[in-house]
Amino acid sequence: MKALVKESSKPGLVLRDITKPRVGKGELIVKVNAASICGSDLHLYKWNSWAQRRLLPPMIIGHEFIGEVEEIGTGVSGFEKGNLVSCETHIFCGYCRQCRLGQPHLCTNTKIIGFDRQGAFAEYISIPAKCAWLTAPDLDLHVATLQEPFGNAIHATLSAPIAGSNILVTGGGPIGIMAVAVARACGASKVLVSEPKEYRRNLALKMGANKAIDPNHEDLIESVKLATNNLGIDVLLEMSGSPDALCDGLSALRAGGIGVLMGIPNDVVQLDITEDIIFKGVTLKGIIGRKIFESWYQGQEMLTSGKVDLSPLVTHQFHIEHFKEAFDIGLSGDCGKIVFII
Ligand code: ZN
Repeated sequence: MKALVKESSKPGLVLRDITKPRVGKGELIVKVNAASICGSDLHLYKWNSWAQRRLLPPMIIGHEFIGEVEEIGTGVSGFEKGNLVSCETHIFCGYCRQCRLGQPHLCTNTKIIGFDRQGAFAEYISIPAKCAWLTAPDLDLHVATLQEPFGNAIHATLSAPIAGSNILVTGGGPIGIMAVAVARACGASKVLVSEPKEYRRNLALKMGANKAIDPNHEDLIESVKLATNNLGIDVLLEMSGSPDALCDGLSALRAGGIGVLMGIPNDVVQLDITEDIIFKGVTLKGIIGRKIFESWYQGQEMLTSGKVDLSPLVTHQFHIEHFKEAFDIGLSGDCGKIVFII
């Protein structure tokens, strides 16, 4: 089968013909129909210092996908050949303290598909059946492959009260834009987005943002004041990992507001804890992954009911042979989601 492999410790990927995986106990072999590029895949492609610490080549990368069940391992129930499935890519152990407390997204022993085991930029993938997500067959493939990152956006956004609130999303990458759509669908009064790339500001507006701010040319805090009658925002959804965005976003919060942090900074970040957190009575929440499987159920309902339409977010589609062009566009940032048809 064809697969996109990080073959050695250097930038780029190679398309290889390799042996199709064999089905193991408790596992499924899935024939991949479509897979999308995640921000973390861009880091792996560039092979920056984080990627070098995180992944040991050789490894097929890619983890956001949709496909059909091809083979079913022993001990698996609930799936049939031909079922359309996506996958919770954080493989939880099921026995650590967090898992047993119903918080498997915080599992101590998490293994991630496309990082710790073979990924989805391939014709076939082997996955644990406990992580497979049975997908509604009427969902378009290019949207169905986005269910995994959509779950991140849902987890982050729904961790704060959204209905009737003014929201600021800092970072208009795909998950930030999905968060805009979720906040609008869940009754936010106003959703503001801060994003330096014009392409992505326009996409955020298309997906329902009331105002898109260019933080490089506009004063973010002043813009928020103007948009909220000087009140400040109720909820900050920090999706960029930029220290400036985080600090300005916290300054833009009203007293008693909630800061939800999902973007990952490269380094240690300095905050004005006294003024921006303690004296304002702000609550900060860190968000990792999706609630397993609550975020998946919420995502499926939002997509199949039409409350959220993610199709405008898929701005590019490529056959996997053209992966270099796909990654170049991904790295440029002039795109929404890029989907491989496999
Ligand atoms: Zn665990």
